Amino acid sequence: MLQTNQILTSSIRAELYPFQVEKITRQVNDFILSNKESEECSFEICPKCGAVHPRLTKAGFTAAGKQMLRCHECGKRFVIDHGELTYYSHQSQAKWDDLILETPNGNSMKETAVKINVHETTAFRMRHKYLHSLEQTVYPLCTERCD
Ligand SMILES: [Zn+2]
Repeated sequence: MLQTNQILTSSIRAELYPFQVEKITRQVNDFILSNKESEECSFEICPKCGAVHPRLTKAGFTAAGKQMLRCHECGKRFVIDHGELTYYSHQSQAKWDDLILETPNGNSMKETAVKINVHETTAFRMRHKYLHSLEQTVYPLCTERCD
C-alpha cells in the first residue's frame, strides 16, 4: 500500500483539503489492488460451473470497464468482482469504500450521498446492499430476499 507522500507532492497536498488527499490516496491504492487482482485471476471455484481451481483467462471488459474472465471448464464468462459489493454495481470501489466508512457514522442518506457524489436513491440502494451483505456474514443461511 502506497503512502500519501509517495502519491502526492507536498506542494499539491498543500492545495487540497485533508479529505481530498485521503480520497486520492485510497483511489490510487484501489486501482493498484484491482490491477493486481486482474493479473492474478485467482478464483478457487468457478462461479458459473463450480469447477475447483478453474483455468481462467482474461476475456474482455464489461461496459462499466470491469475485467471479465473466461472459465476453460465451462467456457462461460463472468466479471472479476463476482460475489463482491461492487458486483452488478456501476459505482467504483472507492465510492463503496466511502459508503462503508460512512455507514457506522450514522449520517443521513442525504449527507452520505453528497459525500460520495451519487444520487440519494443510489446511496440508499448501496447501503441496503452493504447491510444485507453484513447480515449474510452473520446469518449465512438467510436466503430471504428483501429488495
Ligand atoms: Zn466454469
